[in-house]
Amino acid sequence: MKVTFEKLEILKEKPDEKNLGFGKYFTDYMFVMDYTEDKGWHNKKIIPFGPISLNPATMVLHYAQETFEGLKAYRTEDGRILLFRPEMNARRMIKSNERLCMAAVPEELFVDAVKRIVACEKDWVPHLEGTSLYIRPFMFATEVAVGVHPAKSYKFVVILSPVGNYYPEGVNPVKIYVEDEYVRATKGGTGFTKCGGNYAASIIAQEKAQKLGYTQVLWLDGVERKYVEEVGTMNAMFIVDNEIYTAPIDGTVLPGITRDSCIELLKSWGYKVHEEHFTIDFLMEAAREGRLQEAFGTGTAAVISPIGELFYKGEKQVINNFKTGSVTQKLYDTLTGIQYGKLEDKYGWTVEVV
Ligand SMILES: *Cc1c(COP(=O)(O)O)cnc(C)c1O
Repeated sequence: MKVTFEKLEILKEKPDEKNLGFGKYFTDYMFVMDYTEDKGWHNKKIIPFGPISLNPATMVLHYAQETFEGLKAYRTEDGRILLFRPEMNARRMIKSNERLCMAAVPEELFVDAVKRIVACEKDWVPHLEGTSLYIRPFMFATEVAVGVHPAKSYKFVVILSPVGNYYPEGVNPVKIYVEDEYVRATKGGTGFTKCGGNYAASIIAQEKAQKLGYTQVLWLDGVERKYVEEVGTMNAMFIVDNEIYTAPIDGTVLPGITRDSCIELLKSWGYKVHEEHFTIDFLMEAAREGRLQEAFGTGTAAVISPIGELFYKGEKQVINNFKTGSVTQKLYDTLTGIQYGKLEDKYGWTVEVV
């Protein structure tokens, strides 16, 4: 792939690795390319990170044809840079784009673009334990028009941000508010896609939860508000009577790559994993009876995030004495072990950036 490179004379100073936070700092460069119907993807460039100027009638600003992805680059102890299942992100973006009637970025092109920009910004992959370089590929409609139709032109961009822990709590339990007023997704909608619009519609619930002292919301299904779906930016898993429960991927829940990897690991450890619908009442009752042993969210940003408390319709249930459970911890250790190249990668999940 031919990529034009616009070199900077002066590079930024790297931030303090102890205080990276999440998504606050950006690297020196970004990858960009354009799509038009006649030329396909073209104009592939690595250019200085900076503003993108848009005509006020650019379609994305009006009708939100925008999708994104999220993955990370990890630095191993011997200084290699690894990606985790990037082809899965590429395939998911193709599915998101299909649903939003946007052009597709072919799998190989997506992975290649990610590898190229990460290779260019290798020095930005932080060294401290638990840190990584967050990769945010995204794409949007660039056609200038205010009529509603699928846009004929798009821009694909990859930006990079060195990150620490997603939650200020670190790998410690978070408090979750079970949302029974607002809904995130319904069958036939865009719940399974990673699009900005899903977040635009769900931020209000996040706000409400935070005002009440909760970190995130647990979404219920959009029709009956009864079945458990997922947590704000993570898929959710629950251990009841030593068996794992997580919502199925059937249109409303985001098909998480961390979720998929956890299921594979849990099955290999002999756990029965129920990928099926279950109700919030089932969970709350199990909690009351002490049978809800562990709960956690799974997602690239936070990896595994233990859930220490559920609040639903005025009832508060603490899980595992608000401590990280042993299965939760084992999943975290195993996944991060593979991602940082400390454990054998039996599944061939990691891809080295050279
Ligand atoms: C990105 C995302 C996830 C997690 O997906 P991963 O591939 O594991 O990072 C879960 N739920 C929502 C709503 C998301 O946007």
